[in-house]
Amino acid sequence: MQSKRPVVLITGGSRGIGAAVAQLAAQRGYDVAITYRSEREAAERVLAACRAAGAATAACQGDVAVEGDVTRIFDEAEAALGPISHVVNNAGITGKSSRLAQASSEAIRACIDINVLGALWVAREAARRLPKTPAGAPRTIVNISSVAASLGSPNEYVWYAASKGAIDSLTIGLAKELAPEGIRVNAVSPGMTKTEIHERSTQDAGRLERLRPHIPLNRIGEPEEIAEAVLFLMSDAASYITGANIPVSGGR
Ligand code: NDP
Repeated sequence: MQSKRPVVLITGGSRGIGAAVAQLAAQRGYDVAITYRSEREAAERVLAACRAAGAATAACQGDVAVEGDVTRIFDEAEAALGPISHVVNNAGITGKSSRLAQASSEAIRACIDINVLGALWVAREAARRLPKTPAGAPRTIVNISSVAASLGSPNEYVWYAASKGAIDSLTIGLAKELAPEGIRVNAVSPGMTKTEIHERSTQDAGRLERLRPHIPLNRIGEPEEIAEAVLFLMSDAASYITGANIPVSGGR
């Protein structure tokens, strides 16, 4: 079925920040494709909420670290919803927190495979497929980075911070590369945001509360607050913004 609403593809949309972006995009008039790796039911719940907001939807299973999966995900999303105008490069992991000296090779490799290579495969596919005209309806790529890229995450996730530094470079370079084709490329760098990524990376239940005093606005962010910045960058209100990186971190 071809779609008249602009289509956004969001990687890692089954929960957390990706799910919040999907639901806000549906409310703002986009059709929505999300990817998930393992949790089909969670993806279906997100898409049911998107359909309730009037969006046509597609759920595409796949691992962003696998090049062939990324190509198939784009094929499936386009077959279901029509040409894709916006891509949100969101899927990411941290791995278990530790000092770098104690981190396993497997944990570091998985993080780089997903956060760096995965983001590159998705960005490359988007660069190949997003419609290329200097003017016209917005076409954007929004990469989800992290304030960790500039803070470094010592004693916790130095490798994760390094992976997000790569996302920041990708954003700057690809923005310049695609500007002549009218495609804007930007990043959003969340600070501490209430999602499952924290439960999956540490057994330390009190960690978020302990970090709260280090956040100038003195609270943990909500996924919906990250989604607002993503939707702004996708919109025509951001028509002169490319290569930018918006921290949404409570001032951290
Ligand atoms: P969550 O763990 O809540 O969700 C991650 C999503 O990514 C899930 O849908 C997950 O699906 C998917 N995903 C993970 N690995 C892959 C993969 N290899 N292929 C496809 N999908 C995958 O994370 P958040 O929502 O918190 O994080 C989203 C992004 O925001 C990440 O890039 C993260 O680094 C970034 N971020 C988050 C912060 C926070 O405090 N929450 C702070 C700064 C940045 P599945 O479970 O099926 O694999």
